[in-house]
Amino acid sequence: MKHVTEFRDPRLVHTALSELHRVVTRPHVIMEVCGGQTHAIVRSGLDQLLPAGIELVHGPGCPVCVTPLATLDQALAIARRPEVIFTSYGDMLRVPGSDGDLFGVRAAGGDVRVVYSPLDAVEIARKNPDREVVFFAIGFETTAPANAMSVLMARRRGLRNYSLLVSQMCVPGAMRAILASPGNRVQAFLAAGHVCAVMGWREYVPIAAEYRVPIVVTGFEPLDLVHGILMAVRQLETGRAEVENAYPRAVSERGNEGAQGVVREVFQTGDHAWRGIGVIPDSGLYLREEWRAYDAATRFDVGHLQTAEPAICIAGEILQGRRRPTDCPAFGDPCTPDRPLGATMVSPEGACHAYHRYGRVREAIP
Ligand code: SF4
Repeated sequence: MKHVTEFRDPRLVHTALSELHRVVTRPHVIMEVCGGQTHAIVRSGLDQLLPAGIELVHGPGCPVCVTPLATLDQALAIARRPEVIFTSYGDMLRVPGSDGDLFGVRAAGGDVRVVYSPLDAVEIARKNPDREVVFFAIGFETTAPANAMSVLMARRRGLRNYSLLVSQMCVPGAMRAILASPGNRVQAFLAAGHVCAVMGWREYVPIAAEYRVPIVVTGFEPLDLVHGILMAVRQLETGRAEVENAYPRAVSERGNEGAQGVVREVFQTGDHAWRGIGVIPDSGLYLREEWRAYDAATRFDVGHLQTAEPAICIAGEILQGRRRPTDCPAFGDPCTPDRPLGATMVSPEGACHAYHRYGRVREAIP
């Protein structure tokens, strides 16, 4: 498959790794922002092929992982209502809230449906005018355009029975929060290629300049990842702190400006809570006042629900690059993908899940 197969070619990957070994002269800590990148790195074993001084830490870019527990509890409360058809991407159904998950709601008779797009949820609303249809609108800049478009479509079709439970986050705010935190160890970022495909790379330029941190836009195949790491290391070794694009086949400076316009029409930015991390200024998207009628949290009056994280879970520290999954005393026992205690073990993009699935154990990680 063009643009995929060649980026998985072991020969090319090993050539790039050899170059990486050649240029590294001292230790560096690099964070891959996206959970998809974490998964690809651990699955392909890249983390175990890097020069000893290169430490990869895993960032907060897993939407399932950072959706606040309170939002999950809001989802459960809404989904239990008899008049509601609750629609969601499949990976949210297993994420535990304070008292169960969406699969459990469905098993107990709730009408919870998996959809592949919010536009499918709009269609369900059209076909069920006597029911309330809610879509669980989670994610980063990648999902925001379709979520915004679904609201535009619902209004265009005159649907009053459609709403979004919104937990939309924006990556730059989280990167700033990590860099500004007192225990920060991150010296360079691999920015998430798919987020940048929507937003472009220009919004990272001020971050690179302000915090003197290299940011390399990086894809998801093994060769993409090694190239991204290599470009970040070259910057660190030479004292540069710039935004570079290692994923030009998908990412441009300005991104998809049409999609950005749809998002701006429906959403406005605001402070947002990130699960395990806390509230990050200007890191979330909320429905604008003129679209508030489509806000499920308001419609079903669940905005007041507050919850506390399980005390043992250190996912927040993992998502900020301070700890590894194998540092958690619950990793593997009792916390497993089948019996997850925290969201980073639920999602395949979560660092704990990836470590568990691909057999990382405490002794194997230096
Ligand atoms: S292993 Fe489980 S309990 Fe520990 S940080 Fe990961 S998700 Fe949380």
